[in-house]
Amino acid sequence: MIHNLPVKTLAYKDLTIEGYSRAAVQTYWRIPELKLGFDLGAQPWSFMGTPAWFISHTHMDHLAALPVYVARRRMMKMEPPVIYMPEHAIEPMQRILRLLSRIDRGRLPCTLSPIRPGDEIELSREHVVTISPTVHTVPSLGFVVWERRRKLKSEFVGLPGETIRDLRLGGAEVTQEIRLPRVAYLGDSAPGGLDACPAMFEAEVLITEVTFVAPRHRKEKIHKFGHIHLDDLIERRDRFRNHLIIASHFSTRYHSSQIRAHVHKLLPDLMGGKLHLWI
Ligand SMILES: [Zn+2]
Ligand SMILES: [Zn+2]
Repeated sequence: MIHNLPVKTLAYKDLTIEGYSRAAVQTYWRIPELKLGFDLGAQPWSFMGTPAWFISHTHMDHLAALPVYVARRRMMKMEPPVIYMPEHAIEPMQRILRLLSRIDRGRLPCTLSPIRPGDEIELSREHVVTISPTVHTVPSLGFVVWERRRKLKSEFVGLPGETIRDLRLGGAEVTQEIRLPRVAYLGDSAPGGLDACPAMFEAEVLITEVTFVAPRHRKEKIHKFGHIHLDDLIERRDRFRNHLIIASHFSTRYHSSQIRAHVHKLLPDLMGGKLHLWI
């Protein structure tokens, strides 16, 4: 174990959520079981084995470690990673990597893949990522990771196994795909980014930013900067169907104890115990 960057860990069912996020400092998350991560504001040494990364937007504290991550994987003889980014950033990032490669005198092999709102990325047979628009000061995206399962179509439920087998052998499609939203990641966004994507409220785990918590920071002003205030969560509290809501990306204006104090005052039951403060 090499200690280099802070990582907090939380287990939820079959998933482990790992990461760190403070506004303007650095943001990085990964879920090893899903073989994916969100944002590359920094890259803990232990994160390098994760082969696919989704970048929510191109602010430095969410992006700066991209070349470091690519270089480490090459150095450790791992497969070149796939990094999904808002499409406007692809060409500039390719140029940056070329220049860094020149001064570092090392190759930076990776696939930079453009993504847009409405896209679906097939990660594996079991998992799909959908991309939604979010509201920030630069183009930005949110992500939902869906688990896919095949389920017997309702019209065949209750039929004997042999009948179903015969139907299948006869060429009938007896199953249909069902999708379960497992993890949603908002990135940096005003509350419009949540509202634009119903699955954000349905996913088992929601990782959301809540940059501001103090009453003196007015939410109207904060929305202009493309961020969320604690009041925005409270306004929507009846809509969250998630089992676990991770609140993160708190402003450096607040000490951890201040964040806890504001949240416990306004949400003493932590939304029925679902709300987890990532501090
Ligand atoms: Zn940020
Ligand atoms: Zn940002």
